[in-house]
Amino acid sequence: MVKIFIDPGHGGNDSGATGNGLKEKDVTLKIAKAIKSKLKEYENVKVKLSRYEDETLALRERTEMANSWGADVFISIHLNSASSDNASGFESFIYTNTGSRTRGFQDILHSEIMKLVDNYTDDDRGKHEANFHVLRESSMMACLTENLFVSNKADAELLKDEEFINAVAEGHKNGIVKFYDLKKK
Ligand SMILES: [Zn+2]
Repeated sequence: MVKIFIDPGHGGNDSGATGNGLKEKDVTLKIAKAIKSKLKEYENVKVKLSRYEDETLALRERTEMANSWGADVFISIHLNSASSDNASGFESFIYTNTGSRTRGFQDILHSEIMKLVDNYTDDDRGKHEANFHVLRESSMMACLTENLFVSNKADAELLKDEEFINAVAEGHKNGIVKFYDLKKK
C-alpha cells in the first residue's frame, strides 16, 4: 500500500498569495482534492490531505501529520507570486542535498505535470532545491509544486479555469501513478 500525503498550501487565516481575484489557499485545495479523487481509481494507494477545508494549519502541523501517518511521499501544492507581474509558469522544489530517489520522483512528477500544463503554457521554470520547512521536516520523500503565478494576468486566468485546474491535478496524478507503477482498479 502506497501512502500519498497531499498538502494544499496555506488555508484559514493564511490566504497565501493573492492577486487578480485569486487566493492561493482556495486553488491549492481544489487541486489537492482533484488529485485525491483521481487516485481513487487506482489500487493499493491511500491518500490523505493535510486539510479538507479552509482551515488554518501551521507548517509543523502539516509535517507532523504526514510523519505520524507514515506517508511514503509528501506533496505540497502551492501557487507562485512575484512583485513583477512578468514572472510566470510552473516550477518544482525538493530539499537541498536530498537523495537520488527524491530527485527521481521530482523528475517524473515535474515532467508529467509539464506535459499537460504545456497545452496551456510552455512556461517551464525548472526543477529546484530549497530549504523549505515542509521539505526539510517531512521524514519521507517530499516535493513542492508551484503551479503558476497569481500575480501574472495570463497565469491567473488559467488558474480560474476548471479545465486547467483539472489538467494540473491530472499531471500530479500521472506522476504519482508512473513513479509507483499504480494499476487501475
Ligand atoms: Zn504558497
